[in-house]
Amino acid sequence: MWRTEKSVHHGGTEGTENKIKRKNNKITGWQDGQDGLIQRTTMSLSSSICDPLRYLRFHLLFAVLFGLFAVLPLAAQPAPKLLPGEGLAIAGEDGQVQVFGEAQREAPMGSLAKLVWLRLEGDDWASQSVRFNCTGTWEGHTCWNREGHKKVDLAKALDQSCNLAFLAWIRESAARWERIDGPGVARYRLEEVFGPFLGGRMPAGEGIPAFGPEWIGDGDLLRTSPEAFLAWLLDPAQEGLMRRWRKLALGFLDGVTSTQAWWMKTGTGPVPGAPGETCAWVAGSNGRVTAVLRLPRGRGRVDGLARFRDVLGLPAK
Ligand SMILES: [Zn+2]
Repeated sequence: MWRTEKSVHHGGTEGTENKIKRKNNKITGWQDGQDGLIQRTTMSLSSSICDPLRYLRFHLLFAVLFGLFAVLPLAAQPAPKLLPGEGLAIAGEDGQVQVFGEAQREAPMGSLAKLVWLRLEGDDWASQSVRFNCTGTWEGHTCWNREGHKKVDLAKALDQSCNLAFLAWIRESAARWERIDGPGVARYRLEEVFGPFLGGRMPAGEGIPAFGPEWIGDGDLLRTSPEAFLAWLLDPAQEGLMRRWRKLALGFLDGVTSTQAWWMKTGTGPVPGAPGETCAWVAGSNGRVTAVLRLPRGRGRVDGLARFRDVLGLPAK
């Protein structure tokens, strides 16, 4: 070790030695003193690294300090306080998923199904600039808003969760798939995207089913849990959906707002075995943190948004 230090000192300082000699012309004895000082410094550094105990102590101190800094951000974030019956799954930038409460319990997914449709048809619908005029009823179906949502585009239909707009656009898409790809390929594509939420409940048949309200989350055909839906959102296959969803939800503010801006989708699903009862879902992200919360029965969209903000410590709107 010492030899190495010494060879570095001499081999690497040829220029320095020349400089020292030049300076020495003016300052008598400077070189000796300076050289001695450098050597002493090198020796003392070298001996401290060679001393096994001091070496070990230095590394222990480093490990303790590093461990402290690694743990501090986690300790600063207390576990979210959930109410009985709530389930939360949350993931940070590292993709690490944390689950709380009833995060693993499956339930009808409600309007979260509209995000699955956005994954499947969002690019086509956006390029066609789809529009719909919701009057509250359409082809024998009623929108949850009996008054009707009036004229909606994709962003407004997603934000206000207009069932009839989605149903109309889905049926147009289905007709196009059958025409272009044929019923077999269309069914395969549908099963591929909706598989995680169908759990083997895909209606029997050769081609694609007749799309009714159960395909946009009305009823219990499509089901998920906070943990399962978060895992689906985090899957790299959903990157395009996450970008489109953000763009639709934040609109022109996208790119202007800070990276802290959250976008969310609410859903209200029925409660199996309890006719007329509903429970609310909220899925949201700010690009760094993504979370899915399900409320217990009896809670709706407004409760869902308030609880989501509360549980994640976001300012109330
Ligand atoms: Zn509507």
